[in-house]
Amino acid sequence: MDRALFQNIVIQSYDPATGTAEILGTHGDVYQTSLDRCTCEDFQQRGLPCKHIYKLALSRGYSADAFFSARSDVVWYADGCRVYHTSPDCRGLRNRYSRRSTVSMAEYNGLRPCKSCCGDQ
Ligand SMILES: [Zn+2]
Ligand SMILES: [Zn+2]
Repeated sequence: MDRALFQNIVIQSYDPATGTAEILGTHGDVYQTSLDRCTCEDFQQRGLPCKHIYKLALSRGYSADAFFSARSDVVWYADGCRVYHTSPDCRGLRNRYSRRSTVSMAEYNGLRPCKSCCGDQ
């Protein structure tokens, strides 16, 4: 993560009880952001950590890798696929380029667990 990318994004407030921050975006909009989700359009469309989530993670002392390694629910999915995988080696990914996300973000975006690697969870 490049810190310069986030310098125009301002965290207005942070509620440690809920882990939710109010973040002022570069276009003057205010978003409700936690490490799991964000109300911005970018997150709604891609379901990937957006710059606001990264900004919040940075402010909480996480790097990008630390952000994911601190999570117990990291999953992988391929672009254009509606299924997520708990194993990056799952055959269901078929060696397609896969993205890292979390269960909560994947489900929020309507992805379903893979039957072969996610079991009957
Ligand atoms: Zn966002
Ligand atoms: Zn799978």
